[in-house]
Amino acid sequence: MKRNHYDAFIVGGGPAGCSCGLWLKHLGLRPLIIEKRDRLGGLQNDSPYPNVWILGKNYLNGKAFAREVSKQIKNENITVSLGSEISSVKYLEQEKMFQAEFKKKGKPIAVTASFLVLATGVVPRTGPFNPSSTVLIGPGITIENTNFRGKTVAILGGGDNAFENYQFIKRKKPKSITIFARHVRAQIPFIQEIGKGDLKVGEYSVNVAEQQVNGKRFDYLVVMYGWQGVNTLEPWFALNTENHFVVTDSLRRTSVERIYAIGEVTQASHPCCVTAMADGIVAAKDIQRRIDETRIPLEVKKKIPAPFK
Ligand SMILES: Cc1cc2nc3c(=O)[nH]c(=O)nc-3n(C[C@H](O)[C@H](O)[C@H](O)COP(=O)(O)OP(=O)(O)OC[C@H]3O[C@@H](n4cnc5c(N)ncnc54)[C@H](O)[C@@H]3O)c2cc1C
Repeated sequence: MKRNHYDAFIVGGGPAGCSCGLWLKHLGLRPLIIEKRDRLGGLQNDSPYPNVWILGKNYLNGKAFAREVSKQIKNENITVSLGSEISSVKYLEQEKMFQAEFKKKGKPIAVTASFLVLATGVVPRTGPFNPSSTVLIGPGITIENTNFRGKTVAILGGGDNAFENYQFIKRKKPKSITIFARHVRAQIPFIQEIGKGDLKVGEYSVNVAEQQVNGKRFDYLVVMYGWQGVNTLEPWFALNTENHFVVTDSLRRTSVERIYAIGEVTQASHPCCVTAMADGIVAAKDIQRRIDETRIPLEVKKKIPAPFK
């Protein structure tokens, strides 16, 4: 096998991409993970909060979990390229492989791969807002690092993030904090924690330039409008998408042959680390099966008992 050929080229080194890489490695295959940030672990790098949702790892916060992911991938000697983004990719029909180029520190690197795995996750929806020091978009580090003491805060959005961040911000003792939600979709326990008069449900109007909601100015606007998938392959492949998320089947295959999509970029299952990592496993197993089909001789295949085929 040529040095620059990989069984799978994984774009995105969050929980989904790293899990896929780990499983491929242990299934005897050669993955390459490229990640645009300078570290692995994806969105968990942006979470200073305890991650109590991972069985057996409930003592870690998001950042610590990301560090563990990074350490494990490194210890497994899986090929990773940080600070890297695809600059071109095409499918070579005859060879049945992808030819891709990505840049690492400005230097172009060319590789080929039998399969492509999109694991690029999500970014917070911005609505009509531009992020600034007083307009904060999405949850995580920025919220945690902002001093809300004595300030007036409007949270826009009606999902779990809006309600959960109400709690985080409230602990920082703002002068007032109000959630404006057109519809409430948050979990009941989160809703029960909201102080009297702090939740306004129904249509609201925003004056972006004046930082006003319903005519009242706030020191901070906190925008929690949910997430949208990052489809990095859009310039090169017409993957089926729905509402900015990539559509896949149950094996995480996309509408384009040999391209998989896993984790939050698909919104296929409840978005969290565990489902993202599970997606990575599903894709890795399917890739292994397809590669094995081409390399196991027919006479050996005939001897394999049916449940293991
Ligand atoms: C503040 C916060 C708290 C959270 N708390 C929890 C929690 O307690 N428990 C839990 O289970 N989940 C939590 N989550 C959600 C969890 O982090 C995500 O579900 C999970 O990270 C999704 O994994 P992913 O790999 O699909 O996507 P991501 O983690 O988003 O990873 C995608 C990766 O792809 C990279 N990428 C994007 N575009 C490109 C490109 N063009 N080229 C190369 N790389 C690219 C990104 O930089 C990123 O590293 C939290 C999220 C946030 C923001």
